[in-house]
Amino acid sequence: MSLRAQLSLLYSLLAGVVFAAAAFIVYALVSVMLIDQIDYTLTSTANVVMSSTRIDAQGQVVVDQLPVMDVTSPRYIQVWNTSDELISESQNISSLRLSLDPDGLRLPMPAYRDVELNEVQLRVLSVPLQVSGRKMAVLQVGTNRALVDELQGILRTVLGIALALAILVAGLYGWLGTSLVLSPLEKVTEAARSIANKDDLSRRIPNVARKNEIGVLIEAFNQTLDRLEDIFNKQKRFLADVSHELRTPLTVIKGNAGLLRKMKEPDEESLREIEVEVDRLTRLVGDLLLLAQAEAGRLELHMQPVELDVLLTEVLKQARILSLDKVQIHIDEIDQVMVRGDRDRLKQVLINLIANAIKYTPIGGRVGLRLVRAGNTAQLIISDTGPGIPANDIPHIFERFYRGDKARTRSLDGSSYGLGLSIVFWIIKNQGGDIEVKSIEGQGTTFVVSLPILKEKEST
Ligand code: ADP
Repeated sequence: MSLRAQLSLLYSLLAGVVFAAAAFIVYALVSVMLIDQIDYTLTSTANVVMSSTRIDAQGQVVVDQLPVMDVTSPRYIQVWNTSDELISESQNISSLRLSLDPDGLRLPMPAYRDVELNEVQLRVLSVPLQVSGRKMAVLQVGTNRALVDELQGILRTVLGIALALAILVAGLYGWLGTSLVLSPLEKVTEAARSIANKDDLSRRIPNVARKNEIGVLIEAFNQTLDRLEDIFNKQKRFLADVSHELRTPLTVIKGNAGLLRKMKEPDEESLREIEVEVDRLTRLVGDLLLLAQAEAGRLELHMQPVELDVLLTEVLKQARILSLDKVQIHIDEIDQVMVRGDRDRLKQVLINLIANAIKYTPIGGRVGLRLVRAGNTAQLIISDTGPGIPANDIPHIFERFYRGDKARTRSLDGSSYGLGLSIVFWIIKNQGGDIEVKSIEGQGTTFVVSLPILKEKEST
C-alpha cells in the first residue's frame, strides 16, 4: 500500500475513533438530560396527585381531584389499591382497564420504568402510597416516550452522518495533504530516475520546501549531486588527460619504430627518441601510481627521524646541478630541525618544488630556501623571483594534470605533466603536514611546507 494511502487511512481511523467517542458522549448526555426532564415532570404530577389523596373513614384511599388531562395530553394517571382494583384514573385513559406498568404495582419503593403498552413506549413512575408503613395503594404516572425516542433517533442520524463526514473529510485531507507534502519527494524520485536514465548529473531538484525535513533532504541530495558531479567531472578530465599524455609518446615511438624498420642500419637518433619517450611514459605511469596510492591514503612510507637541514643541503647540491647556473639558488636561513617522515619522499617534495622554481624563473633570477622552526612545526620555504601564479590558477595548482597557461606551452618539450604539485600535496598530507602557496603575478612565488617537529624524546 502506498504511503499516501496508509496515511489517509490512518487519518480516517483517528478521526473516526475521536469523533465516535465525542458523539457517544454527546448522545449519552442529551439522553440523560431528556430522561431527567421527563422524570421531573412525572414527579411533579405525582406530587400534585398525592397532595389530593386521603384515607376515608373506611380506611380506603380516596383521590379527591386528579389534575385535568385532556385527550391530547401525553401524561396518564392511575391509582390502584392493593387488591389490584383501579381507584382513579385520568380521563384521557378512562377506557384503559390495564395498569400502565403491571410489574410496577409490586415495587416496594418509587421507581421509574420504561414499558411498552399496546405497542406504545411509556415511561412510568410507580409510587407506593403508604400509611404508617402499610402499603395502601400505588400511584402510577406515565408519559409517552415517543418524543424522546424521536429526538434520540434524530440525534443518532445526525451524529452518524457527521461521523461519516468526519471520516471522509479526514481521509480526503490525508490524501490531499500528504500529496502536497510528498510532491517534493516525487520530484526527488523523478530527478534520481532521470539522472540514472540519462547519466545527467547536472540536474538539481528545486528546493521549494526549504524549511522542513523534506527541504533538508533535498538540500542534502543536491549537495551529494554537486559532489558526485565534481568527482565525475574530475574522473572524466583525468581520463582525457591521461589519454592525451600517453598519445604523444606512443605516436613518437610508433613513428620511430616504422622508420627503423625501413632502414638497414639501426638509426641512433630514432633509438634515442624511443628511449626518451619510454622514459617519459615510465615516469608518467610511476607518478600516476604514486598519486593513486597517496590519494587513497595507501602510500607506503618508511617513517624515520629525518634531519631536514641535512636533507636540504643535500638537495641544494642537486638543484645547483639541475639549474645549470640559469638561476642562483641560496639557502637564506637554516635551523636544525628533525621531523619524522619518509626521507626519500621528503626529498622528492623538495626536488619537485625547487625544480618548479628553477623551471619557471627566468634566467638571472633567484631561488631562496629557508628552513625555520615555527612553534611545533618545521617550515620549509621555497621562494623564487619568477613570473608568479595568476590568482585564478592558485586554487587549482594542486589538482592532477593542472598546468598554468605558460606551463602548457612549455610542456611541448615534454617536461611538464601537471602532476608534480599533486604528488607534493599528497606526500605532505600523508605525513601529517601542510602546504601553502603565496604568489603575486610578476613578483614571484613562495611555497611553505609545514611538518610537525619531532621532539627529542620521540627521536630516541
Ligand atoms: P608542471 O609539471 O606543469 O610543473 P606542477 O603540478 O608542478 O606541474 O605545477 C602545476 C602548475 O603550477 C604549473 O603548470 C605552473 O603553472 C604552476 N607553478 C608551479 N610552481 C610554480 C612556480 N614556482 N612559479 C610559477 N608557477 C608555478
